[in-house]
Amino acid sequence: MTARPPSVEAVLAAVRPRAEDRDPGAVLAVAREVVAREREQLAAGGEPRGAAALGADVVARLLEFDGAAPTGTGGLGPVINATGVVVHTNLGRAAWPPAAIEAARRAAAGPLLLEMALATGRRGPRLADAEAHLVALTGAEAALVVTNNAAALALGVGLAGRGGGVAVSRGELVEIGGGVRIPEILRRAGVRIVEVGTTNRTRVSDFEAALADPKVRIRVVLRVHPSNFVQTGFVESPDAAALASAAHRHGAVVVDDLGSGALLPTEIVGLAHEPMPRERLGAGADLVTFSGDKLVGGPQAGLIVGRADLIAKLRRDPLARAMRPDKTILAAVAATLALYRGGRAQTEIPVWRMLAAPVDALRARAGKIAAALPGGAAAVVELESTVGGGSTPGETIPSAGLALGDGRGRTADGRAATALLARLRAGEPAVIARIDRDRAVLDLRTVDPADDPRLLAALAAALAG
Ligand SMILES: *Cc1c(COP(=O)(O)O)cnc(C)c1O
Repeated sequence: MTARPPSVEAVLAAVRPRAEDRDPGAVLAVAREVVAREREQLAAGGEPRGAAALGADVVARLLEFDGAAPTGTGGLGPVINATGVVVHTNLGRAAWPPAAIEAARRAAAGPLLLEMALATGRRGPRLADAEAHLVALTGAEAALVVTNNAAALALGVGLAGRGGGVAVSRGELVEIGGGVRIPEILRRAGVRIVEVGTTNRTRVSDFEAALADPKVRIRVVLRVHPSNFVQTGFVESPDAAALASAAHRHGAVVVDDLGSGALLPTEIVGLAHEPMPRERLGAGADLVTFSGDKLVGGPQAGLIVGRADLIAKLRRDPLARAMRPDKTILAAVAATLALYRGGRAQTEIPVWRMLAAPVDALRARAGKIAAALPGGAAAVVELESTVGGGSTPGETIPSAGLALGDGRGRTADGRAATALLARLRAGEPAVIARIDRDRAVLDLRTVDPADDPRLLAALAAALAG
C-alpha cells in the first residue's frame, strides 16, 4: 500500500512560526499544493517525507513568490544571450537602456502627470513626451505610440475603412515571425486585400492599374519591409516616391510598415542601410510604423509617425484605446527616444552598443574566459553575429567568442556538444548558446561585458556537470 503524506494541518503547524506575517489563506493554498505534490510522488514510489520537510518546501515556495529568489524555472530567472542574435525575439528582444528602466520604475512607483496638463491642472493629452520625441526625430507632423508594431499596422490599414481596399505587393505579403502573417493581420483588420504584381517583381505601373480601376476602390497602399528574408536575382520593387505620388493622384494614402525602423544609420556599425522613418516620410509615405523593441532598442511598442490629420483619425479609432500602452511603457519609450535626441543612443542603448562593439574587444574577452577554463576546453573563434528581430536580413557582423568541441559534435570530454548546450540552459544563470559547425559556440557580442564573470562560472559548471 502507498504511504500517505502528512496532513495539511501538520504541515501548516510546521510552517506557522515562519509565516506569521502572511495571509493564512495564501499559506494554506501553498501547503495544499505541496501536500498534493507529495501524494503524487508517493504514488510514483517516492520516499515518504515528514511534515517538517514539506513545511520547508512551503516556506521556500513562499519566498519565491516574494520575488527574493527567482529560480529561473518560471522564465524570469537570469539569462545570458550568447547566441550572437542581438535582437532575439525568443529572449525578449531589446534590453532597455538604464534611463528607460529608471523612467519605468518611477512611473510604476508613484503618480505622474499621465493625462494632466501641469499649467491648468485639467485633463491633458496622454503622456505626450514620447510622441514629441518621435516628431523631432523623424520630421513627422505627428506621432502615436501603441502597444506593438502589429497593432500599429492593423490600426494604420484600418484607414481604408471596413471592406476598403488595401493594395499590397505580392512580394510583401509575408510572414513576420512566430506564424504571424501580414495578410492575416489585414483580414482581421477588416480591410480588403488587393494583391498587386508578382512575388519577385512589382512595378509602380502595377499599382497604377489597380488604383485607376474604380471597381477596386483602393484607399490605402501598404508597403511592408521584407525584414526577415532577402530576394535576389530577377527582382524589382517600386520606387517609394513614385509609388507615393501614384497613390496620392488616386486619393489613396501610403502606409509604410518598416518593422525595425532604424533611428540611426546602420552604416555606422558596418551594416547595410536599413530604411529610416524620416526617409520614408520624405519619399511621400503618409504614415510609417515601426517597433519600439527592435533597432530602436527600447520597450515593446508600436511607433506611428506621419500626417497630423491621419494620426488624429487613428487616435479617435476605438481600437486605439485597446492598443494603448501602459504608463511605464510610455515613460520608458520617452526615455529611450530622449537618448537619441541627446546624442547618447550609441553609447547608452544596449542594442547599439552591442552592434558597435569592436571585434578586438570581443576577442580579448573571449581569450580571458578561455584561459580561465580547463586547458583545451574552449578556443577563441571568429564568428558572425546577426541583428535579428527582422532587421538587415542576410547581413552579418564579424564577431568573436568561444567554441567548445572538436567539430564533430563532441566536446573535449567526449560528450555531445548539444548536451553541453542543454546543461548551459539549465544552469544559473541560464546561458543560451548555439551549435556552429558541430561545435558549441558562444558569441560575446550579445553578452554584456559585466556578465563575463557569471558566464565563466556558468561555463565551468556546465563543463564539470
Ligand atoms: C517585427 C515586424 C512587425 C511586428 O512588430 P511587433 O512590434 O513585433 O508587433 C510588423 N512588420 C514587420 C515588417 C516586422 O518586421
